[in-house]
Amino acid sequence: ETLDKGLEKSKTSFFDKLSKAVAGKNKVDDDVLDNLEEVLVSSDVGVNTTLKIIDRIEERVARDKYLGTDELNRILREEIAGLLSEIDAGNATEFEIPANKKPYVIMVVGVNGVGKTTTIGKLAYQFKKAGKNVVLGAADTFRAAAIDQLQIWADRTNVPIVKQSMGSDPASVAFDTLKSGVSNNADVIIIDTAGRLHNKINLMNELTKIKKVMQKVVPDAPHEVLLVLDGSTGQNAFEQAKHFTAATEVTSLAVTKLDGTAKGGVVIGISDQFQIPVKYIGVGEGIEDLQVFNKFEFVDSFFK
Ligand code: GDP
Repeated sequence: ETLDKGLEKSKTSFFDKLSKAVAGKNKVDDDVLDNLEEVLVSSDVGVNTTLKIIDRIEERVARDKYLGTDELNRILREEIAGLLSEIDAGNATEFEIPANKKPYVIMVVGVNGVGKTTTIGKLAYQFKKAGKNVVLGAADTFRAAAIDQLQIWADRTNVPIVKQSMGSDPASVAFDTLKSGVSNNADVIIIDTAGRLHNKINLMNELTKIKKVMQKVVPDAPHEVLLVLDGSTGQNAFEQAKHFTAATEVTSLAVTKLDGTAKGGVVIGISDQFQIPVKYIGVGEGIEDLQVFNKFEFVDSFFK
């Protein structure tokens, strides 16, 4: 029920818009489909994914000849759940890491302001609560504030942090962090990286270098490259996903600030368009306001 609460805005708005889209109609026709398209696009599902969903519903209308608007909810829900299920994130409900990967190294990427540091802090808290040894690495050395912010979260969660001074080599910080993590028996190592939007080649070079250096300590690191996106920024989030997936292999997504937006559809669109599973969602500023993304619960929360 916390998920429902966190997503209250998205849910109500989507539901309202959906009922307006079908008001006065008892069958799904071109009008209803046009309205539905608008609702999906305005909920930040994204144009490509919206068209995919509309196509699928059109197919069903063509096949079944008649589709009542009272059935539209159920069908829409099936189609969206179907889309999300094509991207396998497993179906974890807890903050878990694979038992056979120790230390488990998560490299976190994303632009400034999206909630990257907060997400790292929340993750550290959750893994620690689950009994894991966590170490943080402040490899965003570009801004002094980034290092300070991460230090605050390290203090708050009582988790060790490895850092150097501002302007130092991010790869060197990552290397030190993994060394320290290994010798201190860490279960999870979370590495923050610079969030400035540099050009693709620079970004690619920087992230590649960090990865290579980490692999000197843990050969299959990073086990996860987590891209943090602000769910309230719609098209910007799509652009950032494009940018980062072009620069490195992103393996999972965290979508933040879903509590403050009426546009939770971004979760569906980005995941579909980039074929990357959403692993976590942020639903508030507090330390506990991070949830493991469960696609079935998410879809349910929209259609209940
Ligand atoms: P960074 O620059 O990407 O590291 O961003 P920060 O972690 O510093 O977060 C930027 C702002 O967004 C802060 O005020 C956070 O409290 C806020 N924030 C982060 N995640 C969430 C979330 O899920 N919901 C809300 N409402 N605010 C968030």
